[in-house]
Amino acid sequence: MRVLVVEDDESLSEQICQSLLDADYVVDVAHDGEEGHFLGDTEPYDAVILDLGLPVMDGRSILKKWRADGRTMPVMVLTARDSWTDKVEGLDAGADDYLTKPFIVEELLARLRALIRRSAGQSSSQLECGPVLLDTRSGRVTVGGRAVKLTAQEFKLLSYLMHHSGKVVSRTELTEHIYDQDFDRDSNTIEVFVNRIRKKLNVSVIHTVRGLGYQLEWTEDTA
Ligand code: CA
Repeated sequence: MRVLVVEDDESLSEQICQSLLDADYVVDVAHDGEEGHFLGDTEPYDAVILDLGLPVMDGRSILKKWRADGRTMPVMVLTARDSWTDKVEGLDAGADDYLTKPFIVEELLARLRALIRRSAGQSSSQLECGPVLLDTRSGRVTVGGRAVKLTAQEFKLLSYLMHHSGKVVSRTELTEHIYDQDFDRDSNTIEVFVNRIRKKLNVSVIHTVRGLGYQLEWTEDTA
């Protein structure tokens, strides 16, 4: 899952980014409103963490512009303490959630998980596909109760597919959601990852849809 962080406070943005990286998110960061708006406008994110007080363009204007232009990714705004007007204006501008500064990182991560889950149409924090279970809280993957050890990159890929279970996901889409903007992307490596994950899961849930991509699905006759 790929997240954009727009925050001009360097130490706070560093802290947020590190926590996200530790939780296996792919992260892009912008330190002013213009860059933040541009990235959110041109790159596909699974969620955005947006500070409201930003240089060049403020968070509320960015959000309004994104929404007016049909950008629907979930956005969590960061608001100043005790400013109820910030919260109201943020939500009215199209935010899906808000968090008041200062906050505990665990709360940020929990809210982010919920946002991403809901926007993908998943209501439970345990994502399931047949015998495959992915716990978005702990990052644990099991197959029929057996723990499966995945590398960070394999986990990112499986997590994206699990969030979009049943849908056909192209290699390009996967590439865009498991690498940050600075990464030298090569969609051929996706196939390598998929094959490794298939071997580790040892059940047939990731299907190749010729010419289109991959589909995560469990059907009894694939057992
Ligand atoms: Ca700020």
